[in-house]
Amino acid sequence: MAMVDQNEILFERAQKTIPGGVNSPVRAFRQVGGTPRFVTKAKGPYFWDANNKRYIDLIMSWGPMIVGHANPEVIEAVQKAAETSFSYGAPTEGEIELAERICAVMPSVEQVRMVSSGTEATMSALRLARGYTGRDLIIKFEGCYHGHADSLLVKAGSGLLTFADSTQNAPSSGGVPQDLVKHTLVLPYNDVAAIEEVFKKQGDQIAAVILEPIAGNMNLIKPSKEFLSAIRNLTSKHGSVLIYDEVMTGFRVALGGAQSLQGITPDLTCLGKVMGGGMPMAAFGGKKEIMSKLAPLGSVYQAGTLSGNPVAVAAGLKSLEIISRDGFYECLGGQTQKLMTGLKQAADKANIPFSVDSEGGMFGFYFTSQIPTSYEAVTKSDVEAFKKFFHLMLDEGVYLAPSAYEAGFTSIAHDNEVVNAIIAAAENSFKKL
Ligand code: PMP
Repeated sequence: MAMVDQNEILFERAQKTIPGGVNSPVRAFRQVGGTPRFVTKAKGPYFWDANNKRYIDLIMSWGPMIVGHANPEVIEAVQKAAETSFSYGAPTEGEIELAERICAVMPSVEQVRMVSSGTEATMSALRLARGYTGRDLIIKFEGCYHGHADSLLVKAGSGLLTFADSTQNAPSSGGVPQDLVKHTLVLPYNDVAAIEEVFKKQGDQIAAVILEPIAGNMNLIKPSKEFLSAIRNLTSKHGSVLIYDEVMTGFRVALGGAQSLQGITPDLTCLGKVMGGGMPMAAFGGKKEIMSKLAPLGSVYQAGTLSGNPVAVAAGLKSLEIISRDGFYECLGGQTQKLMTGLKQAADKANIPFSVDSEGGMFGFYFTSQIPTSYEAVTKSDVEAFKKFFHLMLDEGVYLAPSAYEAGFTSIAHDNEVVNAIIAAAENSFKKL
């Protein structure tokens, strides 16, 4: 008798009361097909689905779980905080500690405001940049995703790249007025000439440039040095605010974020994911001169009932403590590189055009022989091969991001045994492709 698939039963049930059966689109497996796995529990590098099948997790909640699932130290901190109630709507000392910690490891951040999601962080940072400069125009880059605020849903990455027709310079989502996105200029990632040209023409009207300093929402794409320094120089020269969206890269590629690796000092930085250790927690911060324009000091309004939530703060503080320990990033980055080298060798053995890249605990692999450097290049990779590989790996018990346009994530719990198991699964899968 065939086994009853509990994931299928849950998915059918979910679709009756939740649109598409999921609370965030990419979870629905639309690009790769098949049934989403409903998670029942997780520990370290693993999670279990509703059939009680174990998977090695390579998304780690899309980044936050860098110290491994159900880390005992984080659980203890959260339990302790939860005992004193979940939320007060009044300030706590923990928030100060978290703010101090962030400012200490990320020197460009002189002051920081906590929010509950990456979307809120980028949306608020943009409003602040517009309020500070008194200008309307913003620049974003093709394939970068900065959450789902209206102004930022133009040629956006992540689920938008998976689902929407992103070939038009129009909103990538229904419900976003053309009138609003006319203030958003979209340029190709890594294109120095394009950004120089725009600043030459309209530099004095540009409030902000927002970028993923290592893009992770169109698979993983690294910026060139020239691109980064052009952006920093042009924004400084024209009085525009440079916003580093480090929601994904912050505390993931290095303790000090991508900015510490690149030697760039942005004006504002957006954080999320790792900083909440898996709890709804994010932040934006930067120069005091800009941050002091926020209410209650200044005229730019921003607020949140659950902002700086004490349980989330406890999870974040403990996670930041763990990642600050000696050798954390050497270990994380080393394991991730080992994994990538193993995947590449396995693909080579099977004669499959394939390339890999990584930074810290974040990685990309591409069904194309050249590492892509732009949105255009990444959309030319072999998505059909990816889909087959995704399902073969799933059968082998390895859970990859269910889209060819997302980065992957490791944790400190991805030890040699786990890395070797993934590589062995990939060898089997490439052979069958
Ligand atoms: N910015 C970046 C770079 C992201 O990767 C994401 C989410 N993947 C966001 C912003 C939005 O964060 P959230 O999903 O927490 O709203």
